[in-house]
Amino acid sequence: MLESRLPQVGTTIFTRMSGLAAECGALNLSQGFPDFDAPPALLEAMARHVREGHNQYAPMPGVLRLREQVAAQVRHYRGVTCDPETEITILPGATAGIFCAVMACVRPGDEVIVLDPCYDSYQPAIELAGGRAIHVPLTTADFAVDWERVAAAISPQTRLVMVNSPHNPSGSVLAAADLAELEQLCERHNLFVISDEVYEHLVYDGRQHHSALQFPALRQRSFAMFSFGKTYSVTGWKTGYCVAPPALTAELRKIHQFVCFVAVTPVQMAIADFMAAEPDYPASLASFYQAKRDLFCEALAGSRLRVTPSAGTYFQLLDYSPVSDQRDTALAEDWTRRHGIASIPISTFYETPPRQRFLRFCFAKQDEVLLRAARILCAI
Ligand code: PMP
Ligand code: GLN
Repeated sequence: MLESRLPQVGTTIFTRMSGLAAECGALNLSQGFPDFDAPPALLEAMARHVREGHNQYAPMPGVLRLREQVAAQVRHYRGVTCDPETEITILPGATAGIFCAVMACVRPGDEVIVLDPCYDSYQPAIELAGGRAIHVPLTTADFAVDWERVAAAISPQTRLVMVNSPHNPSGSVLAAADLAELEQLCERHNLFVISDEVYEHLVYDGRQHHSALQFPALRQRSFAMFSFGKTYSVTGWKTGYCVAPPALTAELRKIHQFVCFVAVTPVQMAIADFMAAEPDYPASLASFYQAKRDLFCEALAGSRLRVTPSAGTYFQLLDYSPVSDQRDTALAEDWTRRHGIASIPISTFYETPPRQRFLRFCFAKQDEVLLRAARILCAI
């Protein structure tokens, strides 16, 4: 028998809930992906590049024209200059990028601080690198970082801190003061950072996204991860990028070249075309998704669920404690089977789940689907 390298791991909650939704014919607001298509010009560019024969390996760090577009956007949206040759790497999705960055940083016996609820791919990557995840919970009231608890979790073995803002699954957003705290801690203890910013453009109610790239000392020790899948509504194209200083980028690429070697060529060329033609497209996302969040939340006004509108991402947590005392994993399954609506139980993202009752719903859906979902939830 093969001894498992990941004995605690089964099939991800996203795969399980999407599978159950399909089996039951339920509305699927579980796994995070849009149910509408990407901008037509992007789809056409993809088809064109395939037809025109751009179907062989791209350069290992990514198509240069795309890296140049990324540099232009980082300058435009974050006011930060980065070198496409030495600081930007195109990767086959942020998941792969995070995996490679963890492999680059973590040695056997190292500790990595993660903030619970934390995205499901972090811990397995840490374990496969021989490290140990040290879980620090976000505050139960508003999913904020308790920096004193983070500081207290740092030991001589700590090598890396992983943060995610806007945050999946809670939708909370780090303030500039949070990144300043992180910067100080990492300088003091000489730590690296993976800053998962895949939902960077999805922040609401006039809030700003603060990137690790905007804090000079933090930037020197950070791998900032992004996903074209979120920004351009093409999660199935699995393409993202990492911005990191040259020495960190060099180590990331050493691993990337033996995990995947490259990201998909025509996808990179199509995204480069679209970014050049529509540089303002990402700026339209906040109002587009905020309108969907508002539609969903307002349609839930008549329900017994408690709603605090999400500050970022395309996820909305609903507090079901007035309706049920069941565990969230059982309830998510029950509502999928009995009521035809699938969601994600967030206890699966904790080492030690608190006594909270939340389900996560993805609102990257057509308005009519969100209204149908709200009608179901109002009747529960
Ligand atoms: N980090 C977070 C917080 C995510 O929600 C996701 C995807 N949903 C990813 C990383 C992975 O992105 P990708 O699909 O580009 O691998
Ligand atoms: N990140 C997506 C979510 O949070 C899912 C991606 C996946 O299925 N691995 O729903």
